[in-house]
Amino acid sequence: MQIKRSSVYALMLVFLLSACHQPAESPSYALHFSDATMGTSFVVKAPFLPNPSHSKELEVQIKNLLDSLDGQMSTYQATSELSQINNNHSKEWLEVSTSLYEVFKQAQNIAVMSQGAFDITVGHLVKLWGFGTKPMLFAPPSEDKIVAALSRTGFEYLSLNHNKKTIRKKLAGLNLDLSAIAKGYAVDQVGLLLESYGIVDYLVEIGGEIRLRGKNIHHQPWRIAIEKPATEQRLIHKVLALTDISLATSGDYRNFFEIDGARFSHTIDPRTGKPITHQLASVTILSDTTMKADALATALMVMGPERALKVADEEKIAAFFLIKTEDGFAEKASSEFISRFQ
Ligand code: FAD
Repeated sequence: MQIKRSSVYALMLVFLLSACHQPAESPSYALHFSDATMGTSFVVKAPFLPNPSHSKELEVQIKNLLDSLDGQMSTYQATSELSQINNNHSKEWLEVSTSLYEVFKQAQNIAVMSQGAFDITVGHLVKLWGFGTKPMLFAPPSEDKIVAALSRTGFEYLSLNHNKKTIRKKLAGLNLDLSAIAKGYAVDQVGLLLESYGIVDYLVEIGGEIRLRGKNIHHQPWRIAIEKPATEQRLIHKVLALTDISLATSGDYRNFFEIDGARFSHTIDPRTGKPITHQLASVTILSDTTMKADALATALMVMGPERALKVADEEKIAAFFLIKTEDGFAEKASSEFISRFQ
């Protein structure tokens, strides 16, 4: 049995064309802050600050905000609010924080739109396949274990009360996983923090989920590269000049294991209980919020190339697809995506 594993967590499937593509004399950003969060990296760039003396204060505020959201939404922290909900096996209505409720609400909307392709109750399956806090596997789990995990999965078992901002697990053992949406939410919250300081030109990125406003340091739109879905090296497939938009990409080539040539990626189809097996290598979504882009990228990644393009056109989702072919990668785009660059 030949095994290959890659667990480059959340390596940016889109990345910022920055210093390496700028002349040496390029001016420096008034705010350029990067660090680690949520098991990946983040970067915040603002070329101009209304009040330059705010930069250090902003760095502290950004770090505190991300640490706080991590403490609410992580399945990697046993004491996080989400972990406590997962460990609570009651079927009572539970009060949750406003942030968590906002994420649950968006997640359920996309679960309904995608007919369950996106489903945050996928936690048991994620762990079963070795992609959560548990170590990676050396062999796929047994069918019995998949059926058992599937019996404790389904967004229809998670109820939300919009008036009281409470949730209820109709299946006590439901296990929620926000890895495909919470980073996008965190990016939006950092963007709103910057805007509360009057900052109108900025880029915020966490693990490849990106929110852009205004202009870069050269008073131009931001230049974002979509990566070629190659596992061994980082190559640029396409460069987009963008602003006042959010984007996110999901792919099957950064976090996977292979057994005898069969690839098992961390994107799981909650309807089958198994990692996706189709030829769609990556999906990039442009949307008005990064939380939506993040979740939609995973939803369309699960759907596969044909259905994802059909749904993207029906739902007016700006989606860009890279599809594996014998000769490399073919690209397809939804009408909404194409119309943004005409
Ligand atoms: P995406 O495609 O955005 O998300 C894929 C992930 O979503 C999968 O890994 C799985 O967890 C889940 N998923 C799979 N299929 C579905 C589906 N059909 N519907 C919904 N969800 C699905 N990683 C660490 O290693 N250490 C940490 O400490 C850590 N802390 C984190 C804290 C938070 C708050 C969050 C949100 C994530 C954390 N992570 C951590 C995970 C890591 O940041 C990435 O979320 C993970 O690698 C997947 O992100 P992605 O963008 O690569 O893939």
